[in-house]
Amino acid sequence: MTRPSLDLPWTHVDDLYLDGAWRPALATARLPVVDPATGEEWGSVPDASAEDVEAAMASAVAAFRSGPWPRLSPSERAEVLLRMAEEVEKRAEPLSWTNTRENGSPIAETSGAAANAAGILRHVASLAAWLEAEDVRPFPAGGAETVVRREPVGPCVLIAPWNFPINLMVIKLAPALLAGCTVVMKPAESTPLSIRFVVEAAEAAGVPAGVVNLVTGGGAVGEALVRHPDTAKVAFTGSTPVGRRIGAACGELLKPVTLELGGKSSAIVLEDADLDAMAKVLVRSSMRNTGQTCYISTRILAPASRYDEVVEMVTATIAAGKQGDPFEPDTVFGPLATRAQRDVVLGFLEGAAAEGARVTTGGAAVDGPGFFVQPTVLADVTPSMTVAREEVFGPVVSVLRYETLDEAIALANDTSFGLGGLVFSSSPQRALEVAERMDTGSVGLNFFASNHAAPFGGRHDSGLGVEYGVEGLSAYLTFKSIHRRV
Ligand code: NAD
Repeated sequence: MTRPSLDLPWTHVDDLYLDGAWRPALATARLPVVDPATGEEWGSVPDASAEDVEAAMASAVAAFRSGPWPRLSPSERAEVLLRMAEEVEKRAEPLSWTNTRENGSPIAETSGAAANAAGILRHVASLAAWLEAEDVRPFPAGGAETVVRREPVGPCVLIAPWNFPINLMVIKLAPALLAGCTVVMKPAESTPLSIRFVVEAAEAAGVPAGVVNLVTGGGAVGEALVRHPDTAKVAFTGSTPVGRRIGAACGELLKPVTLELGGKSSAIVLEDADLDAMAKVLVRSSMRNTGQTCYISTRILAPASRYDEVVEMVTATIAAGKQGDPFEPDTVFGPLATRAQRDVVLGFLEGAAAEGARVTTGGAAVDGPGFFVQPTVLADVTPSMTVAREEVFGPVVSVLRYETLDEAIALANDTSFGLGGLVFSSSPQRALEVAERMDTGSVGLNFFASNHAAPFGGRHDSGLGVEYGVEGLSAYLTFKSIHRRV
């Protein structure tokens, strides 16, 4: 396999970013960083101690209480975000290579990570005008008015998973910064290095000391940050069980929390769907990032009249995607990000076979080093099978059969989740009508993408609150109403 010839600046590190500088961690415990394509340990980071967590929070609290950042105007902070966007873009290549080496995402995916982060920073910067707009509301009965102030909520804890370590942190960091908050970021234990390029970009852009802090570690570190008395808000992306636990802690402690959790989304194929067009977007909408994407539609609901045709198209399209070294530019499917995730996916495949699903391509682990599972299509999946109900988070799609449109919509809505979804149809109006009946946070018509300007979030077990847009920015604000006589 071709490994990066580029010297990656960060491999084995013993520091955390606190109070505006990289400082040695107090912890002696360490966490390995493993290349999922080879199984080789190529880096390691501190597993932060309680003292490290305390120091990171103290830094964020001091910068919030007495530093310049919350006192700048939104436009002044936006200027810094725009500079940060440029600084992230300058680091695109080592960021992408580090990301691919951490989690095995194909380089074709991670090579866009810096540009995506820069796009988020620029869009959020453009919301400064909304944030600072004068907001005065007359009392409906007259005689007085209220000045509504949008203030930063305080020091925030940002916790991300391993599948998109840059995007899922930057969609929290950018609005938190524009709002005037300070942050402590905790990336996932398997992807702790690539986010350092974002920290570096913040420093180079002139974000003041203490505003952005980075600690590394596992769930215990995340939990200590969530429960810290000075944490004013928690933003979390990750699994539903961990999200529930964080939500319970935040409920008990009365801290605002945003939870972006798991999904089990459906693509409803209508009878008039253009299957050639669907084939072109299928990998991205149903198996993006080797199936490790929260919103992908891994249940394809096909009309009985076209079931065999849909199974054939899905099978041929997935089978044609090259699997291999994620550093090869034409690789479509890499390994799973961790050994544990590979084992989870193989468990789902065993269960599906036992329950009667028919494998039309893939279906097994790949021999050799690394955590590879073949991209798999399962036909004859019925709604009660485990693989049709639970999030697999791997390269597995199921094709289910429906007789009537009402049945298809009921099937799509028969899940504890509600994150993404798709409708494939040649009729924009019919597709829109179906999308309106789907009980989910986002739906794509013949394609799926998230829009930095529009809210993204899940219903039911997929989460609480939204990210992106002014709605996402509002999660980092607290409101003050100042009433005066007129
Ligand atoms: P995970 O829940 O195991 O871990 C996510 C993060 O939470 C990690 O940083 C982890 O260290 C931390 N953590 C673990 N226990 C914690 C605790 N008790 N308190 C505080 N922090 C804790 O998730 P994962 O396996 O890394 O990621 C995969 C999951 O993320 C999938 O379920 C996927 O659907 C979900 N996800 C959701 C979205 C979304 O936007 N809805 C996006 C991407 C991924």
